[in-house]
Amino acid sequence: MQYGKYTLTEIISADVIRKRIREIAQQLSDRFKDEVPIFIGVLNGSFIVLADLMRAMTIDCEMDFIKLSSYAGTESTGTVRLLKDISADITNRHVIIVEDIIDSGLTIQFLKERLEGASPKSLTIVTLLLKPDVAKIKFAIDYVGFEIPPDFVVGYGLDYQQKMRHLPAIYRLEGNNL
Ligand code: 5GP
Ligand code: MG
Repeated sequence: MQYGKYTLTEIISADVIRKRIREIAQQLSDRFKDEVPIFIGVLNGSFIVLADLMRAMTIDCEMDFIKLSSYAGTESTGTVRLLKDISADITNRHVIIVEDIIDSGLTIQFLKERLEGASPKSLTIVTLLLKPDVAKIKFAIDYVGFEIPPDFVVGYGLDYQQKMRHLPAIYRLEGNNL
């Protein structure tokens, strides 16, 4: 579809995303069934994944957000900055990090180390999307919604220059001077 001067090609439909999120929520609900895990969403991109994931949970859970930045335009800058910290005390809690996408792996690496410093009871990582050909990570990602090729994608919370987050599916972005 045409979006201003950009071409968007749908790669994962809203329906397929919804079903996959439900599967992951069911697995998390089973795994933490006698606990109250706390989701930590990584702003801004993961706010929609977190909202949908949490509403598909069948157990009690809490949530908080952290804001990091490693991207400028369509390129990773190679350094991660903390823009907003969590407010919750996660010591001795079952923590579930929720990411929209893992690309180079820098952000999730930074986040894992930072949250582990607060001594949670467990740390689980959920990401809607993973670019396995790009990601250089030395630890397991517990729940991956979909593996995708190393193209720049938007929609379902993911932006291009802060826009296109509202689009319901995941699209590959194509344009002349991205
Ligand atoms: P990483 O640190 O793994 O390279 O990048 C993680 C962050 O970069 C993601 O949380 C996301 O905000 C941004 N990012 C990486 N790849 C993409 C992409 O294809 N599209 C968009 N919109 N953001 C991306
Ligand atoms: Mg992000």
